Amino acid sequence: MNRIQILPEHIANKIAAGEVVQRPASAVKELVENSIDAESTKIIVEIEGGGGDLIRIIDNGHGMSREDVALAFERHATSKIATVEDLDTIKSFGFRGEALPSIAAVSQVEVVTCQKDAVSGTLLRIDGGIVKEIRDVGAPTGTNIMIRNLFFNVPARRKFLKTTITEMGHINHIVSKIAMSHPHIAFKLIHNGSEIMNVQQTDSLLERVSSFLGQEMVKDILPIQLLTDWLEITGFLLPPSHTRPNREMQSLFVNNRYIVNKTISHAIYAGYHTMLPGGRYPIVVMFLKIDPSVVDVNVHPTKSEVRFHQEKEIHQLVVKAVRETFLNANLSPDMSMPAEGDREKRIREAISGYFGSRQTNATYSEADSSWQSFSSHLSPPEGDKRQDVGASLAPVLLPFCQIYNTYIIARSDDGVCIIDQHAAHERVVYERLMAQDREILSQLMLLPISLELDYQETATMLESIPLLNELGFKIDEFGQNTFIIYGVPVGMAKGDPKETVLEILHDIQAIGKTKTSSELREDMIISMSCKAAIKAGQPLAAEEMSSLVQQLMETQQPHTCPHGRPTMIKLGMEELEKRFLRR
Ligand code: ADP
Ligand code: MG
Repeated sequence: MNRIQILPEHIANKIAAGEVVQRPASAVKELVENSIDAESTKIIVEIEGGGGDLIRIIDNGHGMSREDVALAFERHATSKIATVEDLDTIKSFGFRGEALPSIAAVSQVEVVTCQKDAVSGTLLRIDGGIVKEIRDVGAPTGTNIMIRNLFFNVPARRKFLKTTITEMGHINHIVSKIAMSHPHIAFKLIHNGSEIMNVQQTDSLLERVSSFLGQEMVKDILPIQLLTDWLEITGFLLPPSHTRPNREMQSLFVNNRYIVNKTISHAIYAGYHTMLPGGRYPIVVMFLKIDPSVVDVNVHPTKSEVRFHQEKEIHQLVVKAVRETFLNANLSPDMSMPAEGDREKRIREAISGYFGSRQTNATYSEADSSWQSFSSHLSPPEGDKRQDVGASLAPVLLPFCQIYNTYIIARSDDGVCIIDQHAAHERVVYERLMAQDREILSQLMLLPISLELDYQETATMLESIPLLNELGFKIDEFGQNTFIIYGVPVGMAKGDPKETVLEILHDIQAIGKTKTSSELREDMIISMSCKAAIKAGQPLAAEEMSSLVQQLMETQQPHTCPHGRPTMIKLGMEELEKRFLRR
């Protein structure tokens, strides 16, 4: 008679499988995390046919008893939490008790598991969620679970499995991220019989991370470290000379759980801001350690997204952590540096300082201060006047000619520098404008421009007029979805104000809440610096070159323009001597 009925368990599991097991890689993730929760020190992942044919995970963890292994495949069966309070202090990867029943509902599973010192192990076979066999077997301590023919009973899902290469790519991705954050566990990944990953147990996080970055990058790696009383940010990043066209190489971990989080990604990007060329993303491995009660990992069945209570504060601290990493390292990609070996050694020392013992921590501040003194040596000494050139107090960068009316050639203490005049001036103007604390000055237009907007744009415009005012735009409502622009930021007169205002409105609509007014202000300043800076092709007098170079060296980031392009390229003496085969 009833219209409503409770779904039988096997149907509920099949539905849950739709969320938990999106593709073979999601099953691999859940199973590997189970192995980690079981305190394994060695995990082998064997895949056949991109995971569609076979996923096999072998671990040396604490295993399960015969009673437990049968229970483990029941819905909401977990050994990891028992009370509601436990949800606030989750330290394990799993806690929902959903993975095994979900996976078992859509595949053919065989588990062999054995606890330490047990008389015998247990074999359990489940087919599409139905137990087919359970018996005692001899087995080593740990768990060996095989998932065959994933989605064999859900043809629609099976059909949508991508090519072996794509599915294997996802598996490799997730196993790499998990391995990266667990140096104490040895991992092996095998596909169709060939080994594609094999990392040994190690005490050093740097060593583990390095095995995923490659030697080329490892030599430039910089340690991140920012500690507050409620948040610890550590990890590594690479300077903007190494970038990627996507976020593949951005690995975020919260309490050692690999996660995807827009706020943190945005903050990392903001930390690099003005040092990255458009469309390029930084290479970062970042670990956030935070009290589990202020982060919610239970917002998604796969637990790959988290929510923070102090989203805004975390954003600020991540930006700070990234910026400080650069300041500490005195990043100067093209300028002379201590010899490479030397530099590498310092960084290694610094890193082992943090991740190793306290005592070596001191090495970091030592290395740190020597970087600092090196930087001060780059900028002209206080009170140095151009007339002093050639005297004993010669500036470190001495421009002597301009080529193609575009590049300035300058001599430095130990080589030659080629400076892009436009990029250099852009950096100078940008930092000057950013340093001003007040509104951007506005310039009235001879002929005001009218701007007709659609319904949505009008709503955004009405909200954003105060912000646009701050940015130097003077705008009035004219009624009927029409607005009048009668003033533009000084230095923008040549651009198309209509286009710019529309762009800003669309930005606000699209990302509204994430782009703050100070970020918009910065965007405006970047575009104004570009317009105000001297152009390529403009001849410069000797004094103009000197003054530009001096101003550039006084900026905080002399090596890149606000768009992230280099301002200068250096050819060091050492390099010259190498090229002329003198050494
Ligand atoms: P959850 O991990 O959320 O608890 P799962 O369905 O993934 O739920 O696993 C259910 C239970 O099975 C776990 O709580 C754990 O006790 C046990 N288990 C699963 N995999 C393993 C393993 N590899 N070694 C030991 N115990 C395991
Ligand atoms: Mg689990």
